[in-house]
Amino acid sequence: MDYDTYGSTAVELAIALANADLEPDDGVPRFLAAHDEWFTPGTSLELTASDAHQAAATARLVRAVALADSQPDVLTRLNELLALARPRPYATDHDGELHLHYAGPDAPALEQLTTTVAMGLSQVVVQHGWQRLGVCSAEGCDDVYVDTSRNASRRYCSNTCASRSTVAAYRARQKS
Ligand SMILES: [Zn+2]
Ligand SMILES: [Zn+2]
Repeated sequence: MDYDTYGSTAVELAIALANADLEPDDGVPRFLAAHDEWFTPGTSLELTASDAHQAAATARLVRAVALADSQPDVLTRLNELLALARPRPYATDHDGELHLHYAGPDAPALEQLTTTVAMGLSQVVVQHGWQRLGVCSAEGCDDVYVDTSRNASRRYCSNTCASRSTVAAYRARQKS
């Protein structure tokens, strides 16, 4: 699977957003600040309360797409997300490499976020299949992930959850 295109890496922003804790008042601004490499330099990352609400709604939609377990459900939820996107592609080499951005360079932060996330997620779904999205199998974790492994065998959101589950399974085997 080719993961070095912007379209595919943008899905990582979508997954990070879906897994972020946006509940606290500063949850959304903190998320934006931690991922500021996705925004045109100079973009104000200060959001109004209603923008922050919208960002949280986008996060829930990404999660809903990842949790959907049939193609019709995926399509409905993905299209709901895409309806929020305002794609206006432009080419840039701001980081030294020529690549495309999905949102206009002067779009507000919320628009850049929503557009990048929606386009990145849908690129992966249409190119690699919605089965590439899933929810962590570790006990007590409900983070979502995108499976970039060659044989689509991923079951956990992170290495931490994978090894935690291996250890738990080992202990359970020893007990019995
Ligand atoms: Zn860029
Ligand atoms: Zn996990």
